[in-house]
Amino acid sequence: MKVLNPDKDPSKFFESLEKSRNRALLLDYDGTLAPFVVKRDRAFPYPEVPAVLKDIIQEGGTRLVIITGRGLDDIIPLLGLERTPEIWGSHGGERLFQDGTYQRAPLPTDTSHGLESVVRWMEKMGWNDHVERKPLGVAIHWRGTEPPKVKAIQDGLLKVLPNFTAGMGLSIRAFDGGLELRPPEISKGEAVETILAEMGGQAVAAYLGDDLTDEDAFSAVKTCTSRGIGVLVREQLRDTKADLWLCPPEELLDFLRLWQKTAASSRKVRPQQERRR
Ligand SMILES: [Mg+2]
Repeated sequence: MKVLNPDKDPSKFFESLEKSRNRALLLDYDGTLAPFVVKRDRAFPYPEVPAVLKDIIQEGGTRLVIITGRGLDDIIPLLGLERTPEIWGSHGGERLFQDGTYQRAPLPTDTSHGLESVVRWMEKMGWNDHVERKPLGVAIHWRGTEPPKVKAIQDGLLKVLPNFTAGMGLSIRAFDGGLELRPPEISKGEAVETILAEMGGQAVAAYLGDDLTDEDAFSAVKTCTSRGIGVLVREQLRDTKADLWLCPPEELLDFLRLWQKTAASSRKVRPQQERRR
């Protein structure tokens, strides 16, 4: 673990976590809980991650939320959890509550037409294998692709995307290994803001993520609560608004286990303290 922001001491963060019953553990999926693989439907979590998440959920006292760019139908089979936690899919455009209630942001007709134009153009170019259609957007992936083909896709998109997206209510966002088109108002930062507002703004909260699309969420977790930290999870450090850097999987697992242990010790200590009063 490396501290990137000296104002956010991890020991103090875990001390606050132990004292609080208002905890939020907000987790990105790909690249954070699961290593990248070329076949996206085989991107399972690091082996010990589901067990630790299960322990944290069972322990109670933590609002554990997965916030992912994937569509909800895509993420649930990969998680390997018996009890599905709260999940925000499609960068926050879809929401599955713990009681099973599902919400989805509307997709305006123009925006939908813009997305269709991009998909049809990719098909015409013979690049449909690189297209991922999502409930509220389209992702174009080139991870694991030969560099000349990546360049051809990028150069082609550079020419046609302005025509397909102008006036269609679409933003183009880069991520590690591709780009995504979706409505501009949908972001992981917005999802984090909503969750923390629901918790009263004083939660002890951590957001763990790896990608450029997580930067909004790193900012939001600190803006919305003074006891929030952003945690970058990736093998190589990069410029980031996060406060800590963890190299997966070992440092990630250490962080999650410490969270679980801290939540458990808080539960054991509290009744004794209360009896002494
Ligand atoms: Mg990610």
